[in-house]
Amino acid sequence: MQIKLDNSVDKFAGEIESLSGFNVYDCYQCGKCTAGCPVAQFTDESPTKLLRLIQLNQKDQVLKSKTPYLCATCNTCSGRCPMQIDVTKIMETIRIYAKKNHIKPPVQEVNTFSDVFLDSVHSGGRLFEFGMTLNYNLKNMTPFLNAQLAPAMLKVGKLSFIRQKTKNKKRLKDIFDKSDYFEPKEEVSKKEH
Ligand code: SF4
Ligand code: SF4
Repeated sequence: MQIKLDNSVDKFAGEIESLSGFNVYDCYQCGKCTAGCPVAQFTDESPTKLLRLIQLNQKDQVLKSKTPYLCATCNTCSGRCPMQIDVTKIMETIRIYAKKNHIKPPVQEVNTFSDVFLDSVHSGGRLFEFGMTLNYNLKNMTPFLNAQLAPAMLKVGKLSFIRQKTKNKKRLKDIFDKSDYFEPKEEVSKKEH
């Protein structure tokens, strides 16, 4: 594969550094992160290669990669990195970068899951699995996905139709106001009312 270097500015690498707090140029391609990554065999670019692509400012290729979306956030890579690069955080940073720049994710289901999970927590302070699953299925246009599992989960009390909400709404609002993970603050605030 040929890579056209963009030496004009370290733009993308710089953005990832400032968002994540880690200098991607510290990576010397030892491969320890990839060697321990449980999903590396299922991804298109290994964590090591993704770091290299960022170093080379290959923004398009990085943002097209499924790797940050298949990442299980297990932190193995971060724990193994001899340069103390938090590779897990880099993966998260790529997802946030794509989201904020309205770039279509290569694995839409993962993005949808993040959205419905946070929506559920945002609206009640606690995860409402039934509502979240329904929301996820409807958004993916697979209304009955995993529906066969519901009876068994209901039986052992792992699923409920009754929604529980936190009593401390102010604390919940404070947490979401401090976070701009998915949406600008004003958008989050609007949803509170
Ligand atoms: S955090 Fe993600 S990239 Fe790192 S080892 Fe786990 S699955 Fe792989
Ligand atoms: S373990 Fe650290 S230094 Fe080694 S390839 Fe991964 S990110 Fe780079």
